[in-house]
Amino acid sequence: MHNNRATLGSRHLLCGPAFAVPGRVSFPWFASRRPGWKEGDGKAADSCYHRLNFRQTDGIREGMSGKNERGDAPRNGEVAERISDRVRGRLLAAGRQFHANDNIHEFLEPGELEALQEEVTARMQDVLQALVIDTEHDHNTQETARRVAKMYVREVFGGRFAPPPPVTEFPNVSLLNELMIVGPVTVRSACSHHFCPIMGRVWVGVMPNEQSALIGLSKYTRLIDWVMSRPQIQEEAIAQLADLLQEKMQPDGLAIVMEADHFCMQWRGVKDMNSKMTNSIMRGSFLKDAHLRREFLSLMPGTNH
Ligand SMILES: [Zn+2]
Repeated sequence: MHNNRATLGSRHLLCGPAFAVPGRVSFPWFASRRPGWKEGDGKAADSCYHRLNFRQTDGIREGMSGKNERGDAPRNGEVAERISDRVRGRLLAAGRQFHANDNIHEFLEPGELEALQEEVTARMQDVLQALVIDTEHDHNTQETARRVAKMYVREVFGGRFAPPPPVTEFPNVSLLNELMIVGPVTVRSACSHHFCPIMGRVWVGVMPNEQSALIGLSKYTRLIDWVMSRPQIQEEAIAQLADLLQEKMQPDGLAIVMEADHFCMQWRGVKDMNSKMTNSIMRGSFLKDAHLRREFLSLMPGTNH
């Protein structure tokens, strides 16, 4: 059961004074049991994707298999398969969704991320060519394709390709059943529509029960970063985060609020510097209990509402 609310350019959701965290709020400093997080088994048949036949087109470099990078062109018009095609083939065979904000690490074999980065470099170079940028003589852009590929694959979209951060959960030995609030945690993401940065803050409210697992404070930051380091849509980002925390902690209630600047509205488009998007997810006891919800919203530290 959950509730998704979004407001654009408005902060009414977070109204109310900011309080210092009083005694009622405790933090989960514990760490835990289950290492890693299994999304299900997904390594499916890739054998039929080893070679694809398609016509080689001028200007397209196949930045994946070592063969092509060394310049050994395959014969008979057969082009060595792109690494992205191989990974895509596995995802399709397994019937798995691979939207921009999905994590696909289970479908990557060792060494393939490096190859994928090479492929992105080659294709990014084509984008620069298409923008009619003389990368050969412009020293500023000579390494741009490589830099952008590294930034996408390893950094800003690294949460698509990296396994989940190791988070161990602690049993709730003290039988905590009081509201815990974590935040504001700085979030950095990018919009799926334009790949423009999204910079914001997230607050998480947890109402544990005796069976709930607790996770260490820093682990919230790691999990949030893993989810946000993908091309995202704010509403989907916090829903993914809620699912992840729900699965790890099994609390009675879970509340998440995210407030963010969307650079695709500030840098381009309407160029409105003041619009922020705030949205929230309330699950379990936060959805059922208006008092608890109000308490969470009024205690969120760092808000100036
Ligand atoms: Zn956008």
